[in-house]
Amino acid sequence: MALQITESCVNCWACVDVCPNEAIYQDTPHFLVDDSKCTECLGDHSVPQCAAICPIEMAIVDELGAFLNPPGSLTGIPIEKLKQFGLWKEAA
Ligand code: SF4
Ligand code: SF4
Repeated sequence: MALQITESCVNCWACVDVCPNEAIYQDTPHFLVDDSKCTECLGDHSVPQCAAICPIEMAIVDELGAFLNPPGSLTGIPIEKLKQFGLWKEAA
C-alpha cells in the first residue's frame, strides 16, 4: 500500500519534508516514492501529506492509479474545459 509520483511531478520538493516516513526521494526525471516506506500516512495523518501539499494535479496516484489531485481539483478549471483544450487525463 503506497502512493506513487507520476511524470506530472515538477520536482518542487514540497512533499519531501512533510512525509512522516521519509519515503520521498529525488530521482530523474522526477521524484519517487519508496513503496517500502510509504504507509499512505495511515496512523500519522488523516490524509496523505504529499498529496495535500502537492501543487500539481495528476502528480500523485494511489496503488490503483487514481489521481489524488485529479484534473481541475486544484485549478478549479471545469472538466469540460480541460477536455476542450486537451488537458484532461484519465486515471490509469
Ligand atoms: S502518502 Fe504519506 S507516507 Fe506515503 S509518500 Fe506520501 S507523505 Fe509519505
Ligand atoms: S509536491 Fe508534487 S510536484 Fe512537488 S515534488 Fe512532490 S510530487 Fe512532485
